[in-house]
Formats: sequence, structure tokens, C-alpha cells
Amino acid sequence: MATSNKDKPIVLIIGAGLTGLLAAQGLQQNGFGVIVVEKEEAIDARPREWTMLVHWAMPIFQRLVPKGILQDLNGALCNPYLQFDAEIETLPCYSGVTGDLLFSSPTPGARRVSRGRLRALLTKGIDIRWGISLKDMTLTENGIRADFEGGLTIDADYLLGTDGTFSKVREILVGADKAQPQGSGFLFATGITQYKDAEKTEVIADKHPVAALMMGTSSVGGIGVLTAEDCSDKSAWTTFWVKIWRGEPVDLRGREALAYIRTQTAPLRDEFQLAIDWTSDESYVSINEMKYWIPVVWNNHGGRAALAGDAAHPMLIYRGQGFQHSITDVDNYVNALLQLHADAGNNASRADVMDAFADEVVKRGVNAVEQSLCEAEKSLHIDTVTQMLMATRGHGK
Ligand SMILES: Cc1cc2nc3c(=O)[nH]c(=O)nc-3n(C[C@H](O)[C@H](O)[C@H](O)COP(=O)(O)OP(=O)(O)OC[C@H]3O[C@@H](n4cnc5c(N)ncnc54)[C@H](O)[C@@H]3O)c2cc1C
Repeated sequence: MATSNKDKPIVLIIGAGLTGLLAAQGLQQNGFGVIVVEKEEAIDARPREWTMLVHWAMPIFQRLVPKGILQDLNGALCNPYLQFDAEIETLPCYSGVTGDLLFSSPTPGARRVSRGRLRALLTKGIDIRWGISLKDMTLTENGIRADFEGGLTIDADYLLGTDGTFSKVREILVGADKAQPQGSGFLFATGITQYKDAEKTEVIADKHPVAALMMGTSSVGGIGVLTAEDCSDKSAWTTFWVKIWRGEPVDLRGREALAYIRTQTAPLRDEFQLAIDWTSDESYVSINEMKYWIPVVWNNHGGRAALAGDAAHPMLIYRGQGFQHSITDVDNYVNALLQLHADAGNNASRADVMDAFADEVVKRGVNAVEQSLCEAEKSLHIDTVTQMLMATRGHGK
């Protein structure tokens, strides 16, 4: 059981995804005690992997992590060997009808990272308790107590729920009925493939050395490079593809998922279809329905409890906004706690400061979740693709 300490308040973070680990780094750097609990048994307990673009929130991310982590950030990049310039820092989108370039979304300063490698990097120096799952929480005289499956309890000054789309913390703070994520009707598939063939890998990387999209028909596609371990030997690289379509919810992995995509979804064109055709049965492939939740204000338990990341605003992956908002939440959370604790004489009420934090997260989150749903609708028709924010406003906020 952790003990509360006035000089070094303890924040208990539920969930060791990117949001929880980033919060841990940001809080620890600013003098707070941090414990992260994670229901998975170990960092590699599940073979889930995807890539994400860190773009408008990159400067905030850089502020939140210690220098040692920034120095090693290259190890989390999908392809650290690129000479980054305006052409590489762009995301091209091709027409699913003609194969022609529809638009290119500029992403200045952005870097595509492996979720798995960034997550591993962010665990450095953090006290993580693996294999424990939150069950409930209660207020104590001086703080908050979390109860876990199996009977363990941990006391802390604050609790931050960063436990993702199906957040237990959210369920406790807003009630089980209100907390349920909604099915979007959009299915998302990803494949992670090592062709062990330099020519095939080159076909993918030549479309764009980071990633490229195809939209405008009933299937949206994406391809890109996940790992470029040896820059001189493309046969050793790992690439990825994604596919999105509207359909009946399914939850499939491996061969079964690959067979479903090949037989039950409309084909893409050119390199986007080849990436799927060349995928071997042993590759990591998954399909599930994308879920969302429109944020509402939560009961902050006298300013002791809060939500951040996908727990606060799970959205569809369009325009790559989810992690940008997670980073923003974390920055605002650290600043809210600093406001309460940095100045010993300040009279700010804990509940008011944390209410203001939550109000901002909810307002920003509602907007982002709704935008992600609109983007999804527009992506499946050639007449509406160019009306997408991705085309008109790029990857900005
Ligand atoms: C394919 C894909 C591409 C994406 N691309 C981009 C992009 O380009 N740009 C961008 O900004 N965003 C992108 N995103 C979104 C981004 O990945 C997410 O917003 C971000 O990773 C959310 O992290 P999180 O830590 O909030 O949630 P999660 O990663 O879901 O982590 C939650 C953690 O909490 C744990 N947990 C759950 N319940 C409990 C419990 N009861 N007790 C203890 N632990 C618990 C879980 O096991 C998990 O480890 C993408 C997402 C996907 C899927």
C-alpha cells in the first residue's frame, strides 16, 4: 500500500498504455510520486502493434519526457534513417477509383512511431505493477483508495484513469450505462508483414517512405513502413497495411482475419491491394470494429480522480488525433496538479482546479470524437473525400 506524502503527492495511474506512461513520465519529472498499474501481465503480453503519427502535439510530448527518453526516441521511429524534409513530412492520399493522387496532407515536424517501441521506451524508470486490474475506488480521509481484482488495495493522493476505450475508471466516474462505448459500424483491419523480399518491400516504401492512404471507395487503405532495421537491406524491413470499411462487427485474428478481408471486403487498387495479396498466413492480422464515446463531465471525487487519453475520448483513427489529444490531456493534468501543489500558499480548491481540467478535456474531446466520425463517413465516397478535414485542414488541430 502506498502512503500519501504532502511533499511528494502520489498519483496512481490506471493503465500502462501510451497515455498512462506519458503521464507517469511527465508527473515524475515534475516531482510527483507515480505508481502505474496495468491489467496485462507484461509489456509484451499481447502482440498488438500499430504505427501512429505524432504531429501537432510533438512539441508538448518533448516537454513532458526527460532528456534520456528524447535521446532514445529514434529507436521508436518507424524509419529513423530518413532525411526528413517537406516531402517526407507529408501524408499522400490516393483515389481508390483512379489511383491518382487526391491530396497530400503536410505534417511538418511529424514522426511516425511504432506504438510498441514507444511504449517500451516510456516504461523507463517508472514503477509499474503488472497483472492487476482495477475493480473499484473510494475516497479516504486524505486521498483515494483503489481496489483491485484479487484483493490488493493502493492508497494515493490522486487517481488518473488512462485505461483506454473500455475504461473501468470511466465506468466508476460516470456510471456503467453512460460509460459504454458505441460501435461505429466501421471495421478496422491491420496487417504487419515481413515480405523477406526487397523488391516487394520497395513497392510499399516507394509509394511513400513513411505511409500513404487510399480513399474514396467502400474500402479505405493505408500502407507504410513499420521497421527499417537495416537501411541497406529492405528484405529485413517490416511493413504494415490497414483497411477500413463499413460492415457487420467481427473480431478476428490471423489467418481467419486475412481470409475474411480477402473474401468479404471490396478490393483496393495497386500497391494497397498488393500489400494484402502478399501477406503470408503467419503474419499478424486483426479486425475489429472501431468504437467511440462522446465525453461527458465526470464525478471528480473532490478533485482526486480524472480521466485522460482514450479513457476520456475514444475516437476513430481518422486524421490521427487520438494520441495528440492524449498528450494534451497529460500536459494539462500535470499543470493542474502543479497549480495545486507548486505554490504552498495557494488557495485554489482542488475540486475547482480539477473541474476546470475535466471541462476542457470534455469540450476538446467531444469535438475530436465528432470530427473523427464525420471524417469516416466522408472517406468512403470519392465526392466527399476532398471535403474531409484531412484534405482541407490537414493534420492540424
Ligand atoms: C491503428 C491505429 C492508428 C492510430 N494512429 C494514430 C495517429 O496516427 N496519431 C494519433 O495521434 N493517434 C493515433 N491512434 C490513436 C492512439 O493510438 C491512441 O489514442 C492512444 O494509443 C491511446 O492510448 P491510451 O493509453 O489512452 O489507451 P490504451 O492504449 O488502450 O491503453 C490502456 C491501457 O489500460 C489497460 N487497462 C484497461 N483496463 C484496465 C484496468 N481495469 N486496470 C488496469 N489496467 C487496465 C489496458 O490493458 C491498456 O494497456 C491510432 C490508433 C490505432 C488503433
